Amino acid sequence: ACYAASAVGYLTGRDIPPAVCLVVSGPGFLHALGGMANATINCWPLIVIGGSSDRNQETMGAFQEFPQVEAGRLYNKLSVRPSSLEVIPKKKAVRTSIYGRPGSCYIDIPGDFVNLQVNKSSVKYTECCLTRPISTAEPYAVSKAVSIIAHSKQPLLIIGKGAAYSRAENSIRKLVDLSGLPFLPTPMGKGVVPDNHPNCVAAARSTALQHADVIILLGARLNWILHFGLPPRFQQDVKVIQIDICAEELGNNVRPAAVLLGDINAVTEQLLEEVSKRLLKHPSNSEWWKKLREKITSNEERSKELALQKSLPMNYYTVFHHIRELIPEDCILVSEGANTMDIGRTMLPNYYPRQRLDAGTFGTMGVGLGFAVAAAMVAKNQKPEKRVICIEGDSAFGFSGMELETICRYNLPILVIVVNNNGIYAGLDASVWKEMLKGGDPTTCMPPVSLLPNSHYEEIMSAFGGKGYFVKTPEELQNALKASVADKQTPSLINVMIDPRSERKKQEFPWLTRSNM
Ligand code: ADP
Repeated sequence: ACYAASAVGYLTGRDIPPAVCLVVSGPGFLHALGGMANATINCWPLIVIGGSSDRNQETMGAFQEFPQVEAGRLYNKLSVRPSSLEVIPKKKAVRTSIYGRPGSCYIDIPGDFVNLQVNKSSVKYTECCLTRPISTAEPYAVSKAVSIIAHSKQPLLIIGKGAAYSRAENSIRKLVDLSGLPFLPTPMGKGVVPDNHPNCVAAARSTALQHADVIILLGARLNWILHFGLPPRFQQDVKVIQIDICAEELGNNVRPAAVLLGDINAVTEQLLEEVSKRLLKHPSNSEWWKKLREKITSNEERSKELALQKSLPMNYYTVFHHIRELIPEDCILVSEGANTMDIGRTMLPNYYPRQRLDAGTFGTMGVGLGFAVAAAMVAKNQKPEKRVICIEGDSAFGFSGMELETICRYNLPILVIVVNNNGIYAGLDASVWKEMLKGGDPTTCMPPVSLLPNSHYEEIMSAFGGKGYFVKTPEELQNALKASVADKQTPSLINVMIDPRSERKKQEFPWLTRSNM
């Protein structure tokens, strides 16, 4: 529920109060801490209201007693207990969750508050807070940034989920078109500018990062996802132009050449004005573009080759190829898992902003089904025909798979696809499993990363009244996809068996490359 609430905050935007998650005391609160941490680390707004034990039983060993306000401080921008019933309607939590860098806020309501009575006239109702203030960057910094771009030979625009959250898609699209800059979206920055835009260099990610001489960072942090902005993944002397709403983020890990503190949309408008004044355009026939295009072509050919392999069991690329062919363009993609999420990100394009939800900055597994429920609820209110497709690795699915009941209870027409390789990262083929069982007790002779081979996850969906499909071949996969996409009323789950040995194509760098500090 807490993951779902945080996704609602991200998807619906900040000028309305974010979603609220209600939890019970003690363990209920503790189970929601993951959601609060995930929201704050993703910079998504959220409000959590938790019940707690009566104030006059504190330290006595009350039912589910736990120091919730103190525990909440590590994971929230604000963690408070109102001093009295009268002050509860104060708007500080809403304001704190959406102003500046968004994040989670926790409000603790002791049990005895529930039965307290107050005089209605003493309650201090206040209007909802003002919409968040929009700040722009210093004009000097804007002009400096554009001069740096003008002198660059190998510039690169990186678009992060901060840009998606702040709804800066129109201005950023204009900036890309006007400036001719190559751009690279981060996982959830995908779709701010459509992945099929000719300036998208996602298929040449490593080359683009490694050789760029100037990076314009729009709502993304130089954290592990972007290899800290350090060699060997980046040039030692790369000039970083950083645009962010959070002053403390500026200069983190790399000393920036220019800092533009302000709202992404407003600052992008400022950049647009300066770029058009100077008629700045990176030539589409530059050596840089040539290098990037060559890499894009060779990488795309390699993926295509893998996607068209006919051998059985299928590999990841074949599965994603068929998914891409058969799902609607305008759908929300939720994804988690290791290879499933990473390969899916490269194989499945996003054409619209805020239509990709995944494990995010915290790399949290278990968010998938909650995010899918949230996305379906938001779609139902905003655009009912929009489908939600939730693509899960089999081990990731295990974290929150029972939410299929929630999906069926509310009849949300989500399509869940489990890409099943029998394990965590990779499991064992059923025949190998059987052979190894001869070694004795499975608790001691089986690798801990192996899950039960050929588990019929689709039967959980059928148990709750949805449609389940177990598929092993491309034809079965195509048929199941066609049927699920066509049926706009019924939740469905396609359990796709793939080769447990299927891997990502060879990478230039391991995903967690150690950086040269
Ligand atoms: P990604 O995971 O896509 O790289 P991050 O979550 O690391 O993105 O970074 C998002 C950044 O966007 C954060 O540093 C956050 O402070 C910033 N941000 C969020 N909203 C805004 C906004 N309206 N204007 C400017 N920056 C914002």
